[in-house]
Amino acid sequence: MRLTETVDRRRSLYRGRRVTLHGWTLPEDNEFQEISSTEWVCSKKPLVLYLQVPGAQWQISGLDVGVYPLTPRSRTWIVNKVTGCAARRTGFFVTPDFACTSHAVQGDTLEAVWASPKRPGLRTNLQDMVTAYVIFSRVRSGGAIKLLNAFAPKLFQSGPPVGASMLLKKLRGELLEEDIEEAFKTAEEQQESRHEKDLLDDIYICQACTESAGTRRGKAARDFGVRKPADVWNCILKDGFWTKCSECKLNISKPQRTAGNATGQFGGRRGAAGGERGREFGELGAARGRMLGERGAAHGALGKNFGGMGAASGVRGAASGAVGAASGVLGAAAGAVGAASGAVGAAFGVLGAASGVLGASSGVVGAASGLLGATHGALGAASGV
Ligand SMILES: [Zn+2]
Repeated sequence: MRLTETVDRRRSLYRGRRVTLHGWTLPEDNEFQEISSTEWVCSKKPLVLYLQVPGAQWQISGLDVGVYPLTPRSRTWIVNKVTGCAARRTGFFVTPDFACTSHAVQGDTLEAVWASPKRPGLRTNLQDMVTAYVIFSRVRSGGAIKLLNAFAPKLFQSGPPVGASMLLKKLRGELLEEDIEEAFKTAEEQQESRHEKDLLDDIYICQACTESAGTRRGKAARDFGVRKPADVWNCILKDGFWTKCSECKLNISKPQRTAGNATGQFGGRRGAAGGERGREFGELGAARGRMLGERGAAHGALGKNFGGMGAASGVRGAASGAVGAASGVLGAAAGAVGAASGAVGAAFGVLGAASGVLGASSGVVGAASGLLGATHGALGAASGV
């Protein structure tokens, strides 16, 4: 629990101090009402709440060390200044410590925090950054921070606090007394313009575009389907590194976009085609492996006659054989993709399923052919050596 007012200065029981509930004294005529298996309501306000103050060394007679007896207090306040209507309430200056503002924990060291910094899609300013900084820096290690929500990407891009950085510059002698005012103005304007820049004007990286280009590829927010700042989280930031632009997303999800039986037939056909292709690849790989293996053997034979040169060619033949084998494996993989597509098809239509199975078996044949290619390649290598 947390104190909502200062109750005892001598014992450092200031407003905001954390305590735990140690016990209570209830009026004799109190009755309990059961709300649920874990919740009871008292008909009367407790006479005293006993609060355990962590780390306290003092002792109040008759109580355990660090236990403070908190009694109810009353406060009267004016509700309406015109009518003079007043209210009076009696209660305890303590509240359940479920959550608090960053302001309330400034200077504290906490075991852990559940932080809720400003969300993406919201404009941020320097104050928001300082607030988040206060929250994040209350713990001893990053592992003690749990984020309740993602935070705005611009939150920590506000630059240094103007006043503090100007003071440091002045103390370092980088800034003259007479230039301070001007520098202050410029820095504040710069900071302002940073926030002026809308999330929508930013460039974001598309993972798929980057991958196909081999270098970081950025696109405008609208290319990710963003229409308003609040979309930035859903359309871009949510996927982190794997963010894809609308175009790339469309290319990936095309097969799944066709509905129902058509999808099944399509998937089946694709499965069969994939299997066929896998088999072809496998045969190709095997043939190539065989050919290159034979070539390796020939080179090897040549090597026998021509000494060192022939041996080198043999080694090359072996390497070529391995390439052939790799092609075979590629064929098998393509076959497996075909089989997977075939499985999708099966779920939607018998026709699709049958074709898919065909694709799967073709894929297996492709794999076998690939292995054959590998064997031939190895054979070639052996001959070469
Ligand atoms: Zn893209």
